[in-house]
Amino acid sequence: MATPTLISNAANLQKFANLDQKGNIIAEYIWVDSEGGTRSKSRTLPEKEYKPDDLPIWNFDGSSTGQAPGDNSDVYLKPVAVFPDPFRLGKNMLVLCECWNADGTPNKYNFRYETVKLMDAHAAHEPWFGLEQEYTMLGQDDRPYGWPRNGFPAPQGPYYCGVGTGKAVQRDIVEAHYRACLYSGVKISGINAEVMPAQWEFQVGPCLGIEMGDHLWLARFLLYRIAEEFGVKVSVHPKPIPGDWNGAGLHSNFSTREMREEGGMKHIEAAIAKLGTRHREHIAVYGEENEKRLTGRHETGAIDQFTFGVANRGASIRIPRECAAKGHGYFEDRRPASNADPYQITGIIMETIFGAV
Ligand code: ADP
Ligand code: MN
Ligand code: MN
Ligand code: MN
Ligand code: MN
Repeated sequence: MATPTLISNAANLQKFANLDQKGNIIAEYIWVDSEGGTRSKSRTLPEKEYKPDDLPIWNFDGSSTGQAPGDNSDVYLKPVAVFPDPFRLGKNMLVLCECWNADGTPNKYNFRYETVKLMDAHAAHEPWFGLEQEYTMLGQDDRPYGWPRNGFPAPQGPYYCGVGTGKAVQRDIVEAHYRACLYSGVKISGINAEVMPAQWEFQVGPCLGIEMGDHLWLARFLLYRIAEEFGVKVSVHPKPIPGDWNGAGLHSNFSTREMREEGGMKHIEAAIAKLGTRHREHIAVYGEENEKRLTGRHETGAIDQFTFGVANRGASIRIPRECAAKGHGYFEDRRPASNADPYQITGIIMETIFGAV
């Protein structure tokens, strides 16, 4: 697509943003598409307080998103979580949806449905997740933002948590996203600049059960939507630049009530032993092209080996030093790629540790 010469005019829009909505709200229905992106469309509803079950089921043309065939294209949108809208403000809201087929079955790309069942069945364990979403910002030329057009920046070293010109780029987008997440009630727990220049991370959690996938998807939507306003692209590819540049992951931290209590280490060890028996099945749902990232270098474990260790960032699973010292806490599954689906990650972790439903 050619670079547009006219981009949005935020100052002009502002003149209209505060107009009276005459007793209406705008609900932005958001869903996950067939490529791991987010899509959304808006509708007007009478102004009142809405919980997900109060909201109308809606639909979209699934043949335009790769989610349904053209001759049977309607996909239904079932509201599952609502959040205040940081763009439109007021009582306007963001509505996260599951996708359902016309025949009453969950859509092929609805990974939430099965995970809800697992979370419900094993709720007594009070599963907490904390996901670390790494991502890379790209310019209109698809190069990492701020990188020279022909050539490379200076080698990695100054960029991780970097401060200063030439070390950090697009902090304005990162900051806007952080604020928007807080406004919307997303349980964002922090941000940092990453090892590769133009790469950043945000963390969401701890979240209980299905809330992890919901909040991470909402946070991704907010990031894509905000970066759009800045004319910047967001890539969640796990290895955006080949060679001596860090890839991007979705480290998944996990604990149960038993693991968090005194003596919890034996529950952590038992869970890790179970994960070790299903390594390939986990890798299969831990993101596309993850083999380019999980090389055993650049703070990763090799894709064909399951390893674990205390404070070891070159292992599949890391037990944080502090947890090992205390004898309880959580562990970090470092395998998921940045483009993985949080519903699939959290679902398979539950299934492996507590059994299928
Ligand atoms: P790292 O040192 O791997 O970069 P971060 O500070 O970026 O770690 O992320 C740690 C994540 O672990 C956060 O998302 C946090 O919410 C999550 N976390 C902390 N304690 C727990 C816990 N007991 N169970 C699950 N997740 C947790
Ligand atoms: Mn139409
Ligand atoms: Mn981190
Ligand atoms: Mn990181
Ligand atoms: Mn981590």
